[in-house]
Amino acid sequence: MVSGERQGMREEQSPVALSFLLGITTQPECEGGNVKDHMDEGTESDNRKGVVILFTGDGKGKTTAALGCALRAAGRGMKTLIIQFMKDRGASGEHLLSSPLSTLIEVHPFGAGFLRPGDDPGPHRKVVREAWEKMKGLLRDDRFDLLVLDELAYVLHAGLLPEKTVIGFLEGRGASPHVIITGRSAPQSLIDRADIVTEMREVKHPYRRGLPPIPGIDY
Ligand code: ATP
Ligand code: MG
Repeated sequence: MVSGERQGMREEQSPVALSFLLGITTQPECEGGNVKDHMDEGTESDNRKGVVILFTGDGKGKTTAALGCALRAAGRGMKTLIIQFMKDRGASGEHLLSSPLSTLIEVHPFGAGFLRPGDDPGPHRKVVREAWEKMKGLLRDDRFDLLVLDELAYVLHAGLLPEKTVIGFLEGRGASPHVIITGRSAPQSLIDRADIVTEMREVKHPYRRGLPPIPGIDY
């Protein structure tokens, strides 16, 4: 874990400074104070739980947004664990990273193929459970600063894992890791628990015209 890096963000990049630039007041104004004064005061954020981010919706960009965060974190020497609940090994470019990126971004794909309406959910439930146990095992030694749970929102929507298992896990962890959850049709409990929720909305996509997915862009 490299929480020192997180806490040691350069001043001009701190959340307080960012809020100031965006015109959002996060703390009461101090008389005669300035932004620097506010930043020096704030140790509250150091002890907070890691943030929970949810990327949901039917538009493209959920998994790639999570991968973008992992890349940004890697730039700060932070380690990311990615658990993919519905993706077969080798199915996507992020499975093919080589060192040094693969040492900072560790990807574990799990998947029992497509889950279509009417399919027996049994095999999918088993793989999801296996992925969940793997994740808990890998988190035990606190090596990771960021955890990406790819397609977990859909897994919950499909009833392959109880919502209370996930909410309990999010509540039970400490300041680390930050967690990013992706997937369509996120249940309300997840939306309520997340700190940041972004919905990707499809405006246009080539698959509507029957065009195949593009390597490096779609997978
Ligand atoms: P990305 O991984 O590109 O960020 P995403 O995570 O938002 O996308 P998913 O729902 O996980 O979207 O879909 C995975 C990929 O499959 C996406 O890259 C998307 O372009 C493509 N895709 C999404 N829906 C369909 C579809 N119905 N048919 C074919 N391809 C699709
Ligand atoms: Mg995805």
